[in-house]
Amino acid sequence: MIEPRTLPRLFAGAGKRPLSLADHEQLYKPTDNVANLINELDASGLVGRGGAAFPTIRKVQLLRHQRGHKYVVVNGMEGEPAAHKDNRLLSINPHLVLDGAEMLASMIGASRIAICVARDNPTVVNHVERAIHERARRNLRGPGIDLHTPPWRYVAGEESALVHWLDDHESLPQYRPDRPHILRIGRGPTLVDNAETCANVGLIGRYGAEWFRSLGTPRHPGSVVVSVTGAVARPQVLEVNLGSPISSILATAGADPQPQAVLLGGYGGAWLRADQIGTPYCNEALAPLSLSVGSGVVAVLPRQACGVAEAHRVVRWMAHESARQCGPCAFGLPALAEDLLTVVRGGRDGVAAIARLGDRCSVIDGRGACRHPDGVVRFVRSSIDVFSADIDNHLRGAPCAAARSSHHFLTVPALEHEEELIWE
Ligand code: SF4
Repeated sequence: MIEPRTLPRLFAGAGKRPLSLADHEQLYKPTDNVANLINELDASGLVGRGGAAFPTIRKVQLLRHQRGHKYVVVNGMEGEPAAHKDNRLLSINPHLVLDGAEMLASMIGASRIAICVARDNPTVVNHVERAIHERARRNLRGPGIDLHTPPWRYVAGEESALVHWLDDHESLPQYRPDRPHILRIGRGPTLVDNAETCANVGLIGRYGAEWFRSLGTPRHPGSVVVSVTGAVARPQVLEVNLGSPISSILATAGADPQPQAVLLGGYGGAWLRADQIGTPYCNEALAPLSLSVGSGVVAVLPRQACGVAEAHRVVRWMAHESARQCGPCAFGLPALAEDLLTVVRGGRDGVAAIARLGDRCSVIDGRGACRHPDGVVRFVRSSIDVFSADIDNHLRGAPCAAARSSHHFLTVPALEHEEELIWE
């Protein structure tokens, strides 16, 4: 039994190897007496940890009253290049995630669980496969569990793209004018939750809502898993109490106490200014700053970095990740990347580019089938705002030396055709 008000919860028992089923049950206690699960989940106030922060109970209620052959999909795709939390969780304790998925299946009456992990991550795939076999050998009651391994890319983890892939092996987001919207595999209503959300359901099902709420804030209860990256001495995945000061998260990872800015929520997120790092890490405190926890990425940019050049690299990669089925996304994102490059180069062309960027953002925002372009627009707007002094220098023809440097702080996968030369 994990005591209330104690961390770690999700990462308890973390070692070099994943917890076996026996070790997992010894640490967390068995789940046979799951009573009143829906009421406990409702009272827990759990919101999805995948980025959208949608109340988990609302998804369950939506699916519960549907008919047909239902599915639960565990999203372990981790499309964000800077995020490692679901992979870490599935590597440390896949059984906690699977427990939560089984509880969700029992709440909505699903007969199958599909757990999705990117095939590009064979170590995690192996851990999950082994856990599924371990459960099968024990002949535990419950729905069948299948492992699926779609190819990794940013939008492949978007829930409608994931369901699309399970349906016909195409990782394309589906247009959903009405949200929340019931996704379907074939004709079967499908509930999608990410691995961290499922693991939290696994805890709530064991210990109840009151235990869950003994960490976090009244409006944002529980713990959350954070991937801390960028200019830190010890890049790591941490489980933290929701509402902890961001400065304490940075200190644990050995970050510069006075960074230039901190990116929250991943590459569809936004920048926190250095003077705001005392802000509590929860959506309640971040919302007035137009920020959110999002995908749990906390990426530190040091003072010597060029924020505009870093933003350009991210946007160029995000443009490449568009699924190219919506015009504003397919054409608008490369145009944003091109304009940012012009700003990095500076001078008179940069002045025109910065004006165009604002217009382009307005045209793109809210016009895609999925939220991918909206995230890029949020990131671009925040970059223009937070790095405005740097941008002024670039436009006056005096870009910082860091813009010319090949050393970068934000992790961006290599593109097939990299820009060869930024400086002419
Ligand atoms: S908005 Fe972009 S990523 Fe989303 S479906 Fe349309 S083209 Fe694909």
